[in-house]
Amino acid sequence: MAERVLAAVRTGPGRTELREFPMPDIADDGALLEVEVAGICGTDVKMYAKPPFPDPVIMGHENVGVIARAGRTFAERKGLAEGDRVFVEHYVGCFHCEWCHAGEYRHCELTDWRTNPDARRYGYTSAEKPGHLWGGFSQYLYLPWNSVLHKVPDGVSAELAGLVTPLSNGIEWALNAGGVGYASTVLIQGPGQQGLSQVVASKQAGASLILMTGTTRDAARMELATALGADHVIDVQQEDALTRVLDLTGGKGVDVVLDCTAGAGTAPVLLGIDALKRREGVMVTQGELAAFPDFPLKKMTEKCIALKSARGHGYRAVELALEQLASGRFPLERLGTHSFGLEDVDHAIRAVGGEVEEGVVHVSLLPWGKYA
Ligand SMILES: [Zn+2]
Ligand SMILES: [Zn+2]
Repeated sequence: MAERVLAAVRTGPGRTELREFPMPDIADDGALLEVEVAGICGTDVKMYAKPPFPDPVIMGHENVGVIARAGRTFAERKGLAEGDRVFVEHYVGCFHCEWCHAGEYRHCELTDWRTNPDARRYGYTSAEKPGHLWGGFSQYLYLPWNSVLHKVPDGVSAELAGLVTPLSNGIEWALNAGGVGYASTVLIQGPGQQGLSQVVASKQAGASLILMTGTTRDAARMELATALGADHVIDVQQEDALTRVLDLTGGKGVDVVLDCTAGAGTAPVLLGIDALKRREGVMVTQGELAAFPDFPLKKMTEKCIALKSARGHGYRAVELALEQLASGRFPLERLGTHSFGLEDVDHAIRAVGGEVEEGVVHVSLLPWGKYA
């Protein structure tokens, strides 16, 4: 095994450098992952443009790879062996709080970089912290005893497994937060990788009507939404979305609204409130706006709308996403549109942000330049 590890390091806003790190020492209860693919999402676009702190960071929080070296205790505790392909959650749990015991590592204080300056989270942690290799835009990833791993089922390629994060978020947000189930009517806003994953989760759960909104330049993504199970797609620039939703629901509105837009301001939330049924609808948002002037709180309350926050995924959602990928029931491979090597991290993130490249849905970063 090489003595040095090559990684792409974020060194400032919108700046990346390739750097070499020493191969970390692996304790008996730790391991090392050879990274096969690191997925890139909208969060990377935001964190790259405006880093939350100045330390150097190896980004990449949606990581799949093969265990290259495992300490004996690590292998015993995790039930894994060298050579196993795994998905690594970006959350690094404390394993003694109530959230960790519930499989909800995402809420653990140890992985919450917003409130804990010494937090650990893949893709977000300073490369100056012990272990150094805390992100997937690197040939290897450091796995301490408290990393959370999922074995990738046989027959699921690294490329396909790279979609586990959006898909598990889809399951978490649509099913657990939104309560989508048998015969639900659902409006999904934004046909990016996240919105498309909500289509799959909703379809699998038995939704009777799935509507997807997008813009004119999303035409290819809208076609993919239809292929994955959306019943109708609505171009918000060409038609009045609310009128269309009401037409398609016999004037009733939908049970659940899932906002997966990026940079669309307050419009999706306002549409969501109007498009929900008369009483007890549910809306799941991932608010980007620090403030929302003239928020129609009265209307929301009078309709008894439950407003939920989309925040990552729990353990079970990842397991279900892996099963979904293994089933081959949906043409999920069509989500993977672009892949780049380590030297192109900057370009890859900008592609997700819509600055470069055409027809982008999901972008994979391949630290070794290709799939094995
Ligand atoms: Zn992500
Ligand atoms: Zn915890």
